[in-house]
Amino acid sequence: MLTKPVEAYVSIGSNIGDKERHLVLAVENLGSLENTQLKAVSSLYCSAPVGFLAQDDFLNAAVKVETSLEPFELLHGLQQIEADMGRVRTLRWGPRVIDLDIVLFGAIQIDVPELQIPHPRMKERAFVLVPLAEVEPDMLLAGTPIDDLIKETLNQKIFLFKQKWFDKLSLTGSI
Ligand code: ADP
Ligand code: MG
Repeated sequence: MLTKPVEAYVSIGSNIGDKERHLVLAVENLGSLENTQLKAVSSLYCSAPVGFLAQDDFLNAAVKVETSLEPFELLHGLQQIEADMGRVRTLRWGPRVIDLDIVLFGAIQIDVPELQIPHPRMKERAFVLVPLAEVEPDMLLAGTPIDDLIKETLNQKIFLFKQKWFDKLSLTGSI
């Protein structure tokens, strides 16, 4: 447990079944983690798959939380949510009911295989950057404005899918 809460950003995605429902459940569960409070949730975005291409499009969003969990405690919380929601790990970068990744955790940097923060591939992925920029338009990533990074990803297909989809920010637990 941290002595002072930090702001962390979680990227979420789903490309199986009722994707929007999966994202709603994931954000509700994220807000229910101990010592963690939802601060902002982006719109939903639809993006084409990266890596393994023969799979359905994704719905993605970014969530800002305030948490007193340690980074690994948050990771394990996210993995528990994935498991509870029935995610079965098959193919890396393959289809998934739900994926929750920590993209940033305060100013903390971690680089071990189980947890890399900032998330190493976030800077080249439109499906991470575009929702994140909506939540935090002035964010700098290693000194670079997030909008400049987005301009490098214009070849990646992503579109706004739905603006108002999660309206329960106030119902979630407190720090
Ligand atoms: P991916 O999200 O890369 O498509 P997975 O969700 O299957 O793939 O995660 C693979 C592994 O990535 C997990 O076992 C987890 O420990 C590790 N990992 C490393 N850094 C992070 C991070 N920042 N957020 C979430 N998982 C991470
Ligand atoms: Mg993941």
